[in-house]
Amino acid sequence: MPAERSLRVAVIGAGPAGVYAAEALARATPPVWVDVVDMLPTPYGLVRYGVAPDHLKMKSVIRTLHGVLGLPNVRFFGNVRYGVDFHLADAHRHYDAVIFATGSPTDRRLGIDGEDRPGSIAAADVVAWYSGLPGASAPPLTATDVVVIGAGNVALDVARVFAKGAGGLGHTDVPDDVLTALTGARTRDIHLLARRGPAQAKFTQIELREMGELSGVDTMVDPADLHLDEAAQEAMAAHKATRTMVGYYEQWSRRTPLGQPKRVHFHFFRRPVRLLGDGESGPVTGIELAVGKPDGHGGVVDTGEIVQLPAQLVIRSIGYRGLRLPGLPFDDGSVTIPNDAGRVCGRTGEYVAGWIKRGPTGVIGTNKGDARQTVATLLADAGSEALPVSDRGDDADLAVDLRQRGVEVVEWDGWLRIDTREIARGRDRGRDRTKHASLAPMLDAARDPLH
Ligand code: NAP
Repeated sequence: MPAERSLRVAVIGAGPAGVYAAEALARATPPVWVDVVDMLPTPYGLVRYGVAPDHLKMKSVIRTLHGVLGLPNVRFFGNVRYGVDFHLADAHRHYDAVIFATGSPTDRRLGIDGEDRPGSIAAADVVAWYSGLPGASAPPLTATDVVVIGAGNVALDVARVFAKGAGGLGHTDVPDDVLTALTGARTRDIHLLARRGPAQAKFTQIELREMGELSGVDTMVDPADLHLDEAAQEAMAAHKATRTMVGYYEQWSRRTPLGQPKRVHFHFFRRPVRLLGDGESGPVTGIELAVGKPDGHGGVVDTGEIVQLPAQLVIRSIGYRGLRLPGLPFDDGSVTIPNDAGRVCGRTGEYVAGWIKRGPTGVIGTNKGDARQTVATLLADAGSEALPVSDRGDDADLAVDLRQRGVEVVEWDGWLRIDTREIARGRDRGRDRTKHASLAPMLDAARDPLH
């Protein structure tokens, strides 16, 4: 690499994976110049638009991410959409390398009859709505019986938001419209459906425990669902957290319901078969489930019994999906960009980090090691055949280029103005922050140097 200039890298996606990658680059020796590009005018990705609003401690990682984006050799270019405003050729023209950290923005589908009925929606859309993601719409909230399919933490988040309702979220940053809509919600019963057994659920301990401590909620488990075969016993012996969580279900199965206004039911060994409703396309009225039993190896076999539950809202929470990015290879099976320790297979100067690299699993902190691995690969490649670094003739600034094309780039100071406006709105309502739920007021705040 020519000694006279530093590497310049674009990171696409300002969520935790992208920001941790920017940090590893910016703190490298010699430091790298990094531009972090995001389609939203706001940084922090899933921490802002995915972590549940009542999980304030988890959201506090924003302080760390904020510090990184404020580093002198890191810039933030928000409101810039890869594939629309900005293309792979632009990335290669302006930067030595580009890291894609675009996450897994869409949902997996069940592939069962009735899945497209009104009232059948994806957890990703519910999360986007209560997080105030611009463009997200409210789920139907007239349902008294809500079914959440899946036994992961996203299912718990969604179930908890319905269980808490407006009363339990009044102190958070959710947009006003979300609180108003939740105030009118008629939720009574929330059913969480796991297709496998209690020892195989993917919940984590703290998040699960919280479900047994919600005020105004009876948390219920049918003792008949708590089959613990040899495989379950082995999982419990191997993992203390599994043992503890099975203990919670056992406790809840012994509780006498207190007649609370809402009930959360955990069901195990229930495989969704079809969504019920009037005619071919009438709204959801219920769900049909195949009852299973443990297969002895951590899986499940059908017993042949079919049961039904009433439901006017069915939320599938069975995992996220990465999306194909223009110009890049994609593996439809793993829903990731094929890569070798972060280097996109068969490509030069293109790297990946986070969920689009490894799939939609892990907690926020998992992205730190993941991003560091990608940056280590990139830095080791620099100057070699894998990442030739030459004197580029064109050192034009991406932000200038984008503005010439009419893109309204929101830089760091613009985001800080949005941040200040949200905090001021929150203060007016006795809260720490209140988000806007649409783009226009955010762009307005970003433009206005008086706020
Ligand atoms: P997840 O943890 O992978 O859970 C997905 C669930 O869906 C599993 O129980 C899975 O069952 C089930 N499932 C998959 N296909 C199904 C089908 N066809 N029918 C019925 N059930 C099906 O995914 P997630 O909840 O979306 O979470 C994604 C990641 O974000 C996870 O790593 C999670 O821990 C993390 N996260 C963390 C927090 C937190 O720390 N508070 C909050 C939200 C998300 P099987 O196991 O049988 O496949």
